[in-house]
Amino acid sequence: MNEIIRNTQSSVTHTSLDPQDWSEFRALAHRMLDDAIDGIANVRARPVWQPIPDATRVAVRTDLPREANDLADVYREFTEHVAPYATGNVHPGFMGWVHGGGTAVGMVAEMLAAGLNANLGGRDHMPVEVERQIVEWMRHLFAFPQDASGIFVTGTSMANLMAVLVARTAALGTLARQHGIGNDGALLTAYTSQAAHGCVSRAMDIAGLGADALRKIDVDADHRIDVAALRAQIATDREVGFKPFLVVASAGTVDIGAIDDLKAVAELCREEEIWFHVDGAFGALAIFSPELAPMLGGIELADSIALDFHKWGQVPYDAGFLLVRDGEQHRQAFAQPAAYLRREARGLAAGAVWPCDLGPDLSRGFRALKTWFTLKTFGTDRLGAVIARSCALAKYLEARVIAEPRLELLAPVNLNIVCFRYRADDAVNREIVADVQESGIAAPSSTTLDGKFAIRAAIVNHRTDETDIDALLAAVLEFGARRLSDAVIEVEAPPLAAQ
Ligand SMILES: *Cc1c(COP(=O)(O)O)cnc(C)c1O
Repeated sequence: MNEIIRNTQSSVTHTSLDPQDWSEFRALAHRMLDDAIDGIANVRARPVWQPIPDATRVAVRTDLPREANDLADVYREFTEHVAPYATGNVHPGFMGWVHGGGTAVGMVAEMLAAGLNANLGGRDHMPVEVERQIVEWMRHLFAFPQDASGIFVTGTSMANLMAVLVARTAALGTLARQHGIGNDGALLTAYTSQAAHGCVSRAMDIAGLGADALRKIDVDADHRIDVAALRAQIATDREVGFKPFLVVASAGTVDIGAIDDLKAVAELCREEEIWFHVDGAFGALAIFSPELAPMLGGIELADSIALDFHKWGQVPYDAGFLLVRDGEQHRQAFAQPAAYLRREARGLAAGAVWPCDLGPDLSRGFRALKTWFTLKTFGTDRLGAVIARSCALAKYLEARVIAEPRLELLAPVNLNIVCFRYRADDAVNREIVADVQESGIAAPSSTTLDGKFAIRAAIVNHRTDETDIDALLAAVLEFGARRLSDAVIEVEAPPLAAQ
């Protein structure tokens, strides 16, 4: 067969987009890689985040480029205007929302994936096998049965939406995909806690069931779903003719990192024959840590689990994941016959279930590769140790807040999230958060707890250590004192900023 394979010497035609001069391209590309590595290696020398100057916003607002530009010039624009004004979650001082720090390993894996330019919608190629391997690892990790299935998605917002759709199809039957949700669908009700992520309600809306059909159950003092209240609400709904079909429990609430009593919720769902989904966006990967894994007890009983490798898993954005206990129910919610997607016994169109049968996307990138590199290179023991360490740092921050009379702790620390405030009103605390962010020293975010504005620090980044916690607290105290003394605040350059 070999003689059929054309021996093509790279001959650049004028329509090809390949470089005219590969060695010139190679030199520039190597410099880009070096700069990107330096960016991570020297991240501490930069402010965590800095406000975007108006001139920078204006500089990138150009007309559609009809003419070619030199790659070197485009790269210069990137280094000047884009790279310095990124979110900052690579930096160890970033503690806002729940953002992963990424790794240098993940970065190069992403580059390799882009080189392959693989489309993981389906077909018979090793990139799909790599994704299947990760599904297999997750299946084992969460003790799911042999016929479980899983798929990479953008993030947990998408994974939660897909879980709602799988549960909906399981409840109404596959004909609902043809006819719509109909009268039965209008009666479906779902349940989650007051502390659940907002994307759960949005998923109900997008799924056509309506956000009102999601009952938000009260939480206890530790922000865990009140299982007795959940049981009572399900009974009340059944009495008046609703059809409870789904409970979404949280393994790590976004406000304070609370983990619902997953065993109790699983038991209730089993009794009531309701789909049990776990939003484990960041918390589920605590299973990598032998110290923390027991907190997730019951997660192995879920019908489906949503999680993000891009948070505590330290995989670069984006890398969300959905695991479903019953792979056939998963497939029935999304698979679609189409002549152009026909499966063959051999050739490139071979292979059993394709990823496009398990979600709404047809064309899909190789998110699995950066995850595969991350899991293999570091090993789950080490990733678990990073996760446990961020919880220990949260405890350290908690202890320092309790010991400081000018600060007030606003919620118990369960995992890696600390909510506190400067002893002053909401307005002052709101200013403090913005002051600290603009200083470039640290980047906390905020939330509201029991009606009080809270400064919120979520320790997710593997680079964060005590000095970063100390810097955050010093900045909060400094800006708090200045705000209270009514002094004019000038935004200062961060002490560590180079260049
Ligand atoms: C981050 C998060 C989400 C949303 O996940 P994305 O990956 O941002 O879409 C959902 N639930 C919880 C608990 C989260 O922390």
